[in-house]
Amino acid sequence: MIKMYDVLVIGGGINGCSIAYQTASRNRRTAVLEKNTVGSEASSAAAGMLGAQSELEEYSPFFEFARRSRDMFPELVPELEEKSGTAVSYIQNGMVKIADTPAEQQRLERMYYFQKQAGEHVEWLQPEVVKTIDSSITGDHYGALYIQGDGQVKAPELTKAYAGAAVREGADFYEYTPALEFIYENGRVTGVETPQGRFYADQIVLAGGAWSRFIPPFGGELPPLIPVKGECVGLHSAVPILEKTVHASDFYIVPKPGGSIVIGATEREGEMGKEVSAEAVQHLLHKACRLVPGLSRASWQCAWSGVRPQSADHKPYLGQTAFDGLWMAAGHYRNGILLSALTGTWMADLLEGKTEEQEWVEAFSPRRRINRKEEEIIGADY
Ligand SMILES: Cc1cc2nc3c(=O)[nH]c(=O)nc-3n(C[C@H](O)[C@H](O)[C@H](O)COP(=O)(O)OP(=O)(O)OC[C@H]3O[C@@H](n4cnc5c(N)ncnc54)[C@H](O)[C@@H]3O)c2cc1C
Repeated sequence: MIKMYDVLVIGGGINGCSIAYQTASRNRRTAVLEKNTVGSEASSAAAGMLGAQSELEEYSPFFEFARRSRDMFPELVPELEEKSGTAVSYIQNGMVKIADTPAEQQRLERMYYFQKQAGEHVEWLQPEVVKTIDSSITGDHYGALYIQGDGQVKAPELTKAYAGAAVREGADFYEYTPALEFIYENGRVTGVETPQGRFYADQIVLAGGAWSRFIPPFGGELPPLIPVKGECVGLHSAVPILEKTVHASDFYIVPKPGGSIVIGATEREGEMGKEVSAEAVQHLLHKACRLVPGLSRASWQCAWSGVRPQSADHKPYLGQTAFDGLWMAAGHYRNGILLSALTGTWMADLLEGKTEEQEWVEAFSPRRRINRKEEEIIGADY
């Protein structure tokens, strides 16, 4: 079987599905190859925070990209829900970022001033005020950053919504169809080999998350990706326990519509695999219940893990690789749900040769210089 497309996306995670939705909407014949099922990896493990303001500490092209992506959700979500029939539970319940050490207080205060300057809505809460924002939070801390408009989605549902909307726009999805190797002809990548036959396309987009580097190179190298496994715990409470998302220095608690509560997440650099360690469950529950004691009344649901794809400099690789015909959209690390909206439109623009934001082209280019130290970590532990 040989199939021909304009755009072939490798990977049915949230970013591959978002790109497919955008290219199919622009009448480009689009297919997605997924080695397992749509959203079966990091995109279904994510807590779903749209945290453009929760991680970045200084102004950069990445911050601008992140907040532009965040700002797309109010319009994009109803569009996807209508086209796919999948509800994604988008809410703007706000986030309290707790300073649990003096060093964290200094870091969050820097973030506060930087975000104020960048025109973001953000407040600094003195320790005694934190409880007035969400009475479920207890304990001694050093103040908090309050991001009133912070939003979240159910990440597995958003992934399905992108995929469903892409199908509605004419994209084909091939599940259980791994891309085994690239077909390289006359100096360019023209297709991929799969167990189900060859797929050819004018443009091939590698969006395989942390697995993107496992397709064998063909006389060259793709940019490095470091897997960073994250483990989470899921609780449920029919009675609301906390309203805001709460983020401390090494864990977070995300209350979801319908009563589920996500507590995450560990950071295990160099690890892949689906197991969840007892240590992770104990650590997350201990920290979360100490900050929000009401959580100990919630019922246990489940624990799970996923693998974040981390690039050499923690920014995604978005753009053309060193190989003609081959593009890349991977390395979204801790922010792939947030960045999915703009990743889709930005990649679709790039594939059409529209490159208005030169700053982003350079900042996210898969051909940008790779830091040697990071490469050593990548080689270290598999
Ligand atoms: C515990 C945890 C919590 C997180 N929380 C958040 C959060 O709150 N907010 C946020 O923005 N981000 C969060 N993230 C990060 C986010 O989940 C990722 O950045 C994002 O899901 C990456 O999406 P992706 O589509 O690039 O990769 P993936 O979701 O990993 O998808 C890649 C897909 O490609 C497929 N694939 C790979 N190789 C091949 C091949 N050769 N052939 C065919 N298919 C292939 C895989 O099977 C997979 O389905 C979290 C991640 C984890 C692990």
